[in-house]
Amino acid sequence: MSHVLVLVDAADGPIRKPALELLTLARRFGRPAAVIFGAVGGTAVEHLGRFGAATVYVVDDPAVREYLVLPKVDVLAEIAGRLQATGDLAGVLAGAGPEGKEIAARLAIRLGSGIITDAVDVTTDDNGRPVATQSVFAASFIVKSQVTVGAPVIVVKPNAVAPEEAPRTPEVEQVKVTLSDLARAARITSRAVRESSDRPELTDASVVVSGGRGLGGAEAFGLIERLADQLGGAVGASRAAVDAGWYSHSHQVGQTGKTVSPQLYVAAGISGAIQHRAGMQTSKTVVVVNKDPEAPIFELADFGVVGDLHVVLPRLSEEIDRRRS
Ligand code: FAD
Repeated sequence: MSHVLVLVDAADGPIRKPALELLTLARRFGRPAAVIFGAVGGTAVEHLGRFGAATVYVVDDPAVREYLVLPKVDVLAEIAGRLQATGDLAGVLAGAGPEGKEIAARLAIRLGSGIITDAVDVTTDDNGRPVATQSVFAASFIVKSQVTVGAPVIVVKPNAVAPEEAPRTPEVEQVKVTLSDLARAARITSRAVRESSDRPELTDASVVVSGGRGLGGAEAFGLIERLADQLGGAVGASRAAVDAGWYSHSHQVGQTGKTVSPQLYVAAGISGAIQHRAGMQTSKTVVVVNKDPEAPIFELADFGVVGDLHVVLPRLSEEIDRRRS
């Protein structure tokens, strides 16, 4: 079986869930080979092996972190080129963050391959070749597509699949990096660590609870946070809410914010403007709380409550507490 290269976004931290999802999808059409950048401990390799990585390429060179994406593209192109030369490359999977998308696009050009972005699932055809599923136009259409040129490069949104274990002991290959002049063209001059909470990262979370202008003020985000914590979820917000200064811009969901694709998305006091939908339309289950039965967000809702969120959300939280006690 040919290899499927999986770009692991670990940035010297723990292996995050989207990487395990990619390994699970990669197994559907080849032998997963993870490529991980940074100082990787034994537990990271073990973790990747637990989710089916047959090979782990470790690229542990601090110089890679000094520059933007080109060193990573160079390394991936070198590994992919080697596999391609022996007919051993079934495809490449990357996560749908800004870096994953840019690396995948540049890599596809280097490999002369077709690329599909924002996939929400990857299955196979009768010949075992990958078929990507995309959900478009506010989830009104499901599109299935296949790369017809070269080894397919597919960019997958988080939460496309539940990670499944398939334990094995991976072969580990340390990869040497030679930085080209082009790769040195743009250097990172500083990094600031973002304040983090105990809540999951918005783009990875399997549950997102979002609030909009209907909250009426910053303090009402307490209702959103309470529900998010009860469900182990992240907090999202509409642009109207963040522009009003009620919550941080880093939590904005939508066209000019973050794209989320959780198992459960709760939208409270959000009307469902097209720019907001663009960031959450691939959520698996959508629950809406809005006092206006005509609000467009109801078109996406699997479950909807027409009512005042200041009444509905506390009751919902109380009911969750009651059932758990
Ligand atoms: P509103 O549209 O004002 O809706 C508030 C909703 O709350 C209403 O449906 C109302 O019925 C309901 N409500 C009011 N009171 C209550 C209550 N007590 N209980 C229950 N429901 C109540 N928006 C984004 O979200 N993300 C983006 O990334 C984004 N990018 C944009 C990019 C561009 C170029 C442009 C032009 C716009 C963008 N917008 C974005 C803005 C977008 O068009 C909407 O203006 C915004 O999403 C509206 O936010 P909202 O739904 O919170 O507010």
